[in-house]
Amino acid sequence: MGRVFKYVILGGGVAAGYAALEFVRRRGDTTAGELCIISEEAVAPYERPALSKGYLLPEGRARLPAFHTCVGANDQLLTEDWYKEHGIELMLGTKVVSADVHRKTLLTSSGEVISYTTLIVATGARVLKLEEYGGNGSDGENVCYLRNIVDADKLVRVMRSCPGGNAIVIGGGYIGMECAAALVANKIKVTIVFTGKHCMGRLFTPKIAEFYENYYTSKGVTFIKETAVSSLEVSAGKVTTATLQDGRRLPADMVVVGIGARANTEIFEGQLAMDKGGIKVNGQMQASEASVYAVGDVAAFPVKLLGGEPRRFEHVDCARKTARHAVAAALDPSGVAGDIDYLPFFYSRVFALSWRFYGNNAGEAVHFGNMDSAAASSSPKFGAFWVNKGRVAGAFLEGGSPEEYEAIAHAVRRGAAVPDVAQLARGALRSSSGT
Ligand code: FAD
Repeated sequence: MGRVFKYVILGGGVAAGYAALEFVRRRGDTTAGELCIISEEAVAPYERPALSKGYLLPEGRARLPAFHTCVGANDQLLTEDWYKEHGIELMLGTKVVSADVHRKTLLTSSGEVISYTTLIVATGARVLKLEEYGGNGSDGENVCYLRNIVDADKLVRVMRSCPGGNAIVIGGGYIGMECAAALVANKIKVTIVFTGKHCMGRLFTPKIAEFYENYYTSKGVTFIKETAVSSLEVSAGKVTTATLQDGRRLPADMVVVGIGARANTEIFEGQLAMDKGGIKVNGQMQASEASVYAVGDVAAFPVKLLGGEPRRFEHVDCARKTARHAVAAALDPSGVAGDIDYLPFFYSRVFALSWRFYGNNAGEAVHFGNMDSAAASSSPKFGAFWVNKGRVAGAFLEGGSPEEYEAIAHAVRRGAAVPDVAQLARGALRSSSGT
């Protein structure tokens, strides 16, 4: 025999926290048996981006409960007590091992069957392991991945065990870049190895990447590009050396791996329609089975701004907004919530730098700001617009003010017409600051 809930949120990450708050805002306190959150993690939902930023600082570091959701959106801090006070059952440390969407049941690793009327899937994503690419060494005592708080605690422990040592960071995406900056702050020597031609290959233009690579280099970071780590040498449980495909051998006191993530869809494979590596949903975040909604990293949903093209984003803003939208739709399935109208948004903060990106990086990239002098400046400001079919499709800005970020987001949102690309480049910062 198991328990029965009207609404179940499966997963206890960012999307789950924002969904819970939206639920309470719309419905008031829940009654017993109404809403349950099931999470494999041992702690209440928290703002995951903090793990590669404030959590890794050498001083004044962020620690729970300070970054539980929904503080990342300058909203309420939801501690475990908040869920209790609002009648929400928080089943922590509980993994769901299988689901039956026809019977509307979930089976937990402890053998309990949970029944639901409506399910919101918020299972997020998990890291890709070196072994999935033919590599080795993931279980090394000094090899770190970063997805959850347990990973972050290991990373902090390993960093502290080798002050002044050598870290190899595998991967040039945002996890690799943010961890590299944190390692430098912790006085560890960093070499970043990745297969691409430049860092943040899926988003940055070569020119933007050059700025950040130069900045990192000025902080003592070494980049080794267009090659991969072919093997890690392990001695007494620890990696000591990384061997590259080109034969080079790098001494390692620790390794951080950031080579991507995969959406946690397995328990729904064969039961729900899938797309873009995630669960396919409509504009109400509803899956092919009407009683199931999917949100956050795991959901592939139609993006109006992209002509309704289905997309899946691993962005915290997307987790927050899709979660709120799904709750609105689930609580009023008559369709009053309408279809989600999402503006893709991603950001990162490293060292004293901070950037934001909105929209789609399709089309011709038009850079603005002087990126050479930006490198020497203590508060650089530059960016790029992506122009597609004569309109602004995407925008990137480093070092903007809130008003400037708002302005570039607005230009993307309305698909501002670009009659003259050169003029756009010259006027970008002026117009984005509204002067
Ligand atoms: P998650 O927050 O990953 O939550 C998924 C939850 O589901 C987890 O608690 C997991 O344990 C649980 N779960 C999964 N399967 C099961 C199961 N079978 N049973 C029970 N529980 C399960 N985005 C940005 O835009 N900017 C950033 O700067 C940024 N920084 C980041 C830094 C780090 C270190 C990481 C890891 C991510 C970062 N992101 C960033 C991405 C952002 O955090 C994610 O997009 C966001 O967390 C997605 O929310 P989610 O709720 O979909 O998934």
